[in-house]
Amino acid sequence: MRRKRNAKIIATVGPASNTEEMIEKLFLTGVDVFRINMSHSSHEEMRHIHSLIRKVEQKHNRPIGVLADLQGPKLRIGRFAAEEVEIMTGDEFTLDSDKTPGNKKRVYLPHPEIFSAIKPGDDLLINDGRVRIRAVEVTENRIVTKVVYGGVLSARKGVNLPDTMVPLAALTDKDRADLEAAAQDGVDWIALSFVQRPDDVAETRKLVRGRAGVLSKIEKPSALQSLSEILDLSDAVMIARGDLGVELPVEAVPGWQKRITRSARKAGKPVVVATQMLESMIDEPVPTRAEVSDVATAIFEGADAVMLSAESAMGKWPEKAVETMDSIARSVEHDPLYRSIINAQRNDPEATSADAISNAAKSVAETLQVAAIICYTGSGSTGLRVSRERPEFPILALTPSIKTARKLAIGWGLHCVLGEDVQDQDDMVNRACQVCAKEGFANHGERVVITAGVPFGTPGTTNMLQIATIKDFCN
Ligand code: PGA
Ligand code: MN
Repeated sequence: MRRKRNAKIIATVGPASNTEEMIEKLFLTGVDVFRINMSHSSHEEMRHIHSLIRKVEQKHNRPIGVLADLQGPKLRIGRFAAEEVEIMTGDEFTLDSDKTPGNKKRVYLPHPEIFSAIKPGDDLLINDGRVRIRAVEVTENRIVTKVVYGGVLSARKGVNLPDTMVPLAALTDKDRADLEAAAQDGVDWIALSFVQRPDDVAETRKLVRGRAGVLSKIEKPSALQSLSEILDLSDAVMIARGDLGVELPVEAVPGWQKRITRSARKAGKPVVVATQMLESMIDEPVPTRAEVSDVATAIFEGADAVMLSAESAMGKWPEKAVETMDSIARSVEHDPLYRSIINAQRNDPEATSADAISNAAKSVAETLQVAAIICYTGSGSTGLRVSRERPEFPILALTPSIKTARKLAIGWGLHCVLGEDVQDQDDMVNRACQVCAKEGFANHGERVVITAGVPFGTPGTTNMLQIATIKDFCN
């Protein structure tokens, strides 16, 4: 089974999609990676969903990526005596360390770190930015604010602090427990929410211990300031536009989306564009024109993956949403302008043999108009370097590691196939041609270009390139 597009689709699993039947349908319709949101899943639910995905994977004999998304240090206000209270623009409102239920003058804020970090003039956004208050006077246990935009508040609403570097631990106790459970269960990616500093990623890497890829969600302005260090330490990034659009003026998000996409492409790390991509499809079977254009923009920029959140987790039309993303990606990738836009953002190879070979493979592929580029990759790093070239021809990543095959499911253009380590050069060519023919990428007489490393089976050795013709070695 092969996808007819390079960009990948991630779908969040939730009540609308957490059965084997739905997971299979969504996979067949186009999902490459499933996301399990740890904010809403117990360990038992996570393991159950993961096992259903693996059943579908086995049934169709195609590697599927699984991403466990940690909740992260999400900040919330306390409770109110009434169901809800309305606070008025221009009024004073206080956040304090008094646990008694709040009213329209004050509420408990159960995060002592905020009291010491916030400065007068800093804004607090409550309930996804619907209510904005500005700190006027700050003490150890009180923040007196002025209401910039009023609105209705109720218990446990989320708080964002776009102007304040809150010295929060990167991971809460819940995150640590979730991370360990997910890593032990063998998920392929672990996503870290609300990354603020490079150290947050470093700390997560230590806990993950190579058992999964670490994906940093970019949703805090402080992360934008050290984007390149965060990229260096991460295996992938997500442009988490939901929280980013609350923390930044919303009109700043599209520019950052382009800059983050370009930086990640330059680094050769997978980049995911997420949130509200087909939001109206939570209720409707058709997207708005603006949503179609949004998905298209991400594809034109060469993002590795586009993501569905509530659309697939709790919407009425999960399958339609996947089908819509799939057809937008296919259509954009056939657009007459697509190649020139993708190529304009291409990056020069770095001075490594893997990059030299990957770049040469792309060039050979163009000169000979090959049927496919086949790369042998153990850890997956060469697969991603070939993907970084954003070649015009399909990429088959052949790997002996199921972990690698699943992890690479997120990467642009990579069709992963599991196979044993090759013995010698004939075996390498033979196997590559066979897989290519069997997976439907090339016919008898067509040429392919193969990259590999000698000595075979030694990681990090990509150093050779071979051109082969399908008829030479297999039928
Ligand atoms: P979330 O992350 O869905 O976990 O909040 C994505 C985002 O903020 O865009
Ligand atoms: Mn978020």
